[in-house]
Amino acid sequence: MGKSMDFEDYVEKDAQFHIHTYARLPVLFTKGEGCTLWDINGKSYLDFVSGLGVTSVGHCHPAVVSAVKAQVEHLVHVSNLFYTVPQIELAEKLVSISFGDKCFFANSGAEANEGAVKLARKYSKIFVGEDKYEIITAFRSFHGRTMKMLAASGQPEKQKPFEPMPIGFKHVPLNDFDALKGAITDKTCAIMLEPIQGEGGVYPCDLEYLRNVRRFCDEKKLLLILDEVQTGIGRTGKMFTHEHYGIEPDIMSLAKGLGGGFPIGAIIVKDEVAKAFEPGDHGSTFGGGLVACVAALAVIKVIEEEALIENSEKMGALIKGKLNEVSATCAVIKEIRGKGLMIGIGLKQEIAEEIVSKCLESGLVINNIGSKIIRFLPPLCVTGDDIDKAMGIFKKALIN
Ligand SMILES: *Cc1c(COP(=O)(O)O)cnc(C)c1O
Repeated sequence: MGKSMDFEDYVEKDAQFHIHTYARLPVLFTKGEGCTLWDINGKSYLDFVSGLGVTSVGHCHPAVVSAVKAQVEHLVHVSNLFYTVPQIELAEKLVSISFGDKCFFANSGAEANEGAVKLARKYSKIFVGEDKYEIITAFRSFHGRTMKMLAASGQPEKQKPFEPMPIGFKHVPLNDFDALKGAITDKTCAIMLEPIQGEGGVYPCDLEYLRNVRRFCDEKKLLLILDEVQTGIGRTGKMFTHEHYGIEPDIMSLAKGLGGGFPIGAIIVKDEVAKAFEPGDHGSTFGGGLVACVAALAVIKVIEEEALIENSEKMGALIKGKLNEVSATCAVIKEIRGKGLMIGIGLKQEIAEEIVSKCLESGLVINNIGSKIIRFLPPLCVTGDDIDKAMGIFKKALIN
């Protein structure tokens, strides 16, 4: 055996062989359990990012691991040419816990949103008017990185290098209902929003705004697409974040937390809308695969059995309370935003990267959005002890 690879060796190889699309943090993780991660040197970390809101029930939850193991030993893939039990069971489960009647499965958030947009366009062309295709989204929104979802995302600076953008999307400032009303044309078919913008900086829709948008969509025969890729599956203290607003979308997209780490995306829709799709209109080779579906089924079961939605709400409130205490003694915090375990901290100074680095060194994984926003997305199973420990590290990083 030659010399074993250490951290620096892997960093070098990554730079050599992987296209440089990620500004990585200087850690290589090799193991996870619950809210804890271990790096290649055996150092442990408290995980308050959950792989960007993905490992919703914690790392390597035994129920998810055993469901996946059993499935892998049985059957991994047959394609959507055939029926499979996990896909049917997951569709039934998602319908039973949501506003919707039917599901379609994809492999990621962007792909789920692609399906949502295709469905909205076809439905509107058939049932509302020939020329309806335009979709209004919000500035600062993030809907994914395919060309069409890049065009949908209201972040012009991200679009610039890849222009020309696919047409059919228009952006308005979030929480400005008049701006939204003013942006509608004869061509508009849908409005697509994140109930709480995630990648844009953890900015929630105002209660009245989203309710007005729902009412307006009904009046104007527009579809309301809610991108709950980040906010769905218990993240904010409800199974789906629109429940906080007392409204229902026509189409909802999910992904991140749904598979607990296994790649799966979904759209959930009402029958009325689902009927626009016919065989051949949409599909995916890998979408709704057996392993991803059993993982998602196990994740939802764990969330229900371990009361993780209640925990998300409770622990979210605990974190916010502690952040308010920190804020009282530390002038650098400008604002604390978000719901449940999706928390954004606006800073007055451009020190977010520095704080993330300091926390990482002290064994806490958190995330920054740009230079002035910190984001916490801990697993839904996070405990009061985890939070005490994390807030101790975070406070020290902020003050020093
Ligand atoms: C992460 C995210 C996406 C994109 O998901 P991918 O799985 O990376 O394609 C879309 N919408 C929202 C709200 C997201 O947070």
